[in-house]
Amino acid sequence: MANIQAIRGMHDVLPDQTPLWQYAEKIIREVLSNYGYSEIRLPAVEKTELFKRSIGEVTDIVEKEMYTFDDRNGDSLTLRPEGTAGCLRACLEHGLLHNQVHRLWYYGAMYRHERPQKGRYRQFFQFGVETYGMARADIDAELLLLTDRLWKRLGIREKVRLQLNSLGTIAERLVYREALVAYFQQHLEALDEDSLRRLNTNPLRILDTKNPAMADVVKNAPELMNYLGDDSRQHFQTILDTLTDLGVSYEINTRLVRGLDYYSKTVFEWVTDELGSQGTICAGGRYDGLIEQLGGKANSAIGFAMGMERLVLLLETLDINVEKPADVYMIRVGEAAEKFGLHLAEQLRTEIPTLKLQVDCAGGSIKSQFKKADKSGAKYALILGEDEVSRNEVGLKSLRDEQSNQQNLTQSEVCAFLQKLK
Ligand code: ATP
Ligand code: MG
Repeated sequence: MANIQAIRGMHDVLPDQTPLWQYAEKIIREVLSNYGYSEIRLPAVEKTELFKRSIGEVTDIVEKEMYTFDDRNGDSLTLRPEGTAGCLRACLEHGLLHNQVHRLWYYGAMYRHERPQKGRYRQFFQFGVETYGMARADIDAELLLLTDRLWKRLGIREKVRLQLNSLGTIAERLVYREALVAYFQQHLEALDEDSLRRLNTNPLRILDTKNPAMADVVKNAPELMNYLGDDSRQHFQTILDTLTDLGVSYEINTRLVRGLDYYSKTVFEWVTDELGSQGTICAGGRYDGLIEQLGGKANSAIGFAMGMERLVLLLETLDINVEKPADVYMIRVGEAAEKFGLHLAEQLRTEIPTLKLQVDCAGGSIKSQFKKADKSGAKYALILGEDEVSRNEVGLKSLRDEQSNQQNLTQSEVCAFLQKLK
């Protein structure tokens, strides 16, 4: 019988890959806490209606990417394709939005039935950030400063660029929409099938096309920026001024519309040239209208989501020294050494709580145990053979310095040595 394999587009992250994930996750959590953000944990499944109402019926996600199924009682449920809708649902349900300001983040798997390729999967992980109750441009700028700091901390600032646009208010977009439809109607021959369909349902999304054959017609289309009112313009300018003031470089991309319906005013993407067409590692924007749309009292909201797989792919292009599973590997030969070693190992773990100590539990000759010690990535081996045990000593040898010899130490000397290591 053939072995069962994973579902297409849903990946295992193997033990030699997890250290890089953990490295990134740790730094992301640290930076989020630097800015005073709190974690919220949300279900992976929600009512299908939630996504239809928030993301919009005529979006890629709702039209063709959702994993939707009937629960046993007939309710239509969906594996979350993104976190914004669920986060807002939770905050409304628990009354968190009443005259309050929130800075939240979540981390977890998202599901979209897309064509799997490098940087595009059917299960993928996102760090999401959502803030509520802040209308001023300060918070838009804060999210950009936070992400800028994050890239610096991760060592990838030189590899990513910030692209910004303003979508204005819904009313401003309606006027623009008419101008855009009129323009495309004069160029019907240049539109592909998807775009012809969108012309009547969601014409702004045509600007988001990834079809190179449409590059020209999109390039010459009217620009939304020219249809913004004073308030939207001022809001956008304040963000730009803040970025300039704090030395964060950016590009204005007037064709950046983002895939979802719920954005207003600011939208942004952090993009890289190193991952082919899956170059957006972080994307977000303001969605002031969504809270009301989901039944809440009108309130401001802005957030972003970061794709972990794309981030990790980018980090793989650097030479990052990630943590090894063990600092120290204990080799034991003979029954007395095995017993003595286990006691010593537990004692060391008690005295040095951060120590990563791997005890060889498979046995074998001293040579074969040394091979495993070397493979573990540990810096030092502790050696316990009949001789060492009979003299009440512990052998210590560097695994990374070939010239070094074994030193024999007392238990307390070993403990003091390893304490200094941490
Ligand atoms: P794209 O234009 O690449 O399809 P999107 O606009 O659909 O992206 P968002 O919904 O804004 O993406 O999600 C935010 C981030 O999550 C993306 O910038 C990307 O890093 C990541 N992401 C989105 N879809 C996938 C996927 N199928 N596989 C891996 N990462 C993804
Ligand atoms: Mg997409």
